[in-house]
Amino acid sequence: MQYADSDRAREVADRAHALMEEVVLPLERERAGGMALSSGTIADLREAAREYDVYAPQIPEEYGGMGLGFRDSLPTFEEAGRSLLGQVAMRVDAPDEGNMHLLELAGDDLQKETYLEPLVAGDIRSGFSMTEPMQGAGSDPKMIETTAERDGNEWVIDGHKWWTTQGVEADVLIVLARTDEDAHPYQGCSLFLVPADAEGVEIVRDVPHMGGGPLGVSHAEIRYDSVRVPEEHLLGELNKGFAHAQQRLGPARLTHCMRYSGMAQRSLEIAKAYLTERRGFDSSLSEKQSLRHRIADAETQLHVARTAIRDAADRIAAGDDARVPVSMCKVFTANVTQDAIDLAVQCCGANGIGKDLPLSDFYESVRQFRIVDGTDEVHRRVIARAAFEDVNADELEPLTRFGEPNRRPE
Ligand SMILES: Cc1cc2nc3c(=O)[nH]c(=O)nc-3n(C[C@H](O)[C@H](O)[C@H](O)COP(=O)(O)OP(=O)(O)OC[C@H]3O[C@@H](n4cnc5c(N)ncnc54)[C@H](O)[C@@H]3O)c2cc1C
Repeated sequence: MQYADSDRAREVADRAHALMEEVVLPLERERAGGMALSSGTIADLREAAREYDVYAPQIPEEYGGMGLGFRDSLPTFEEAGRSLLGQVAMRVDAPDEGNMHLLELAGDDLQKETYLEPLVAGDIRSGFSMTEPMQGAGSDPKMIETTAERDGNEWVIDGHKWWTTQGVEADVLIVLARTDEDAHPYQGCSLFLVPADAEGVEIVRDVPHMGGGPLGVSHAEIRYDSVRVPEEHLLGELNKGFAHAQQRLGPARLTHCMRYSGMAQRSLEIAKAYLTERRGFDSSLSEKQSLRHRIADAETQLHVARTAIRDAADRIAAGDDARVPVSMCKVFTANVTQDAIDLAVQCCGANGIGKDLPLSDFYESVRQFRIVDGTDEVHRRVIARAAFEDVNADELEPLTRFGEPNRRPE
């Protein structure tokens, strides 16, 4: 399917496709059901991505990327999403991808040199610490409890976070904390760059969770106990933490959408291959109309998702307020990719559950997508708020209210 992508976006996505077909997918098949990826394998994959000229497409050249820009990178994100190994290879993997974007937008020169460049190079890893145990920040982020107080030329951070993806492995943690108790949290929180080895940072545990697959990334519970960071570790503007977090989350939601639509598309490719070869009840399973219709519906929904994601990305690129279109993409894509992957599991019978094919890893991975970066319910809330903004009461003008005389002509 062709989309309104620029020539450059297509060229890079074509090279990403070649990398996936020639390097990543053969490795994934060879390692079927295998253990977590070693750092050596990750380094080899990244070397291959550099050779195919598809490494860190979204990052400006001055920081070690390709300078493709956000919108033009999206088709490459989709290619990368076709395997859990693809996104690591091309350095478009969450959460580093979103954190790099945030550092690029909000970081100063020293922060970019210290954290962004090594992140792009793959020399360090990062986490984004916002969600807290009850009754702290969750779906309602303004319930944030973590604080940062100024003490001379340092900030002292006290708090408790969990579900910080890659928190165990991270070298640097981006922490959201209250910096003005009197202001509304949306105007009274800030972001801080906290080295993971700073005194007072306690990685309590990797919260046991569904999924992980070959990447085996942690989701950490972390205590910040009087953690001191120099004032230069404030990321972006003071008390603009939520605004900066939104700068990260808007695009990150769309890049998640593209990675997962790639994963869903690959799942359908596997399902179609299986149905074509497998016979039952006197024909190929691919000839059974009930299955064909379900594949057709899944293809249709993915096409609608891809189209909507590009539209939302174009609006971001144009500087428009894209909050509602992004929420629509996020909730729609999370659900249709989950449905498509579930369908692929069903189509492959027992082998949908087995680990010789990547489907069960995809199935476990996609479930989180309806929760991370804003749950379905939170995004529906945003969409519904806009939908109810200009209700037209005139539409009900013909209706009779209780006790009113009949308005209809006899
Ligand atoms: C795999 C994974 C990775 C994550 N990575 C990170 C990370 O790197 N950094 C980070 O900070 N956080 C991370 N999170 C946390 C994630 O952002 C939160 O789980 C999410 O914001 C929801 O918060 P909660 O878990 O506290 O749910 P709760 O706020 O407890 O909500 C519980 C349920 O109630 C629903 N609900 C809440 N309010 C309403 C309402 N008004 N109407 C209807 N339903 C409602 C929610 O949608 C949800 O289904 C991650 C989570 C997962 C699963």
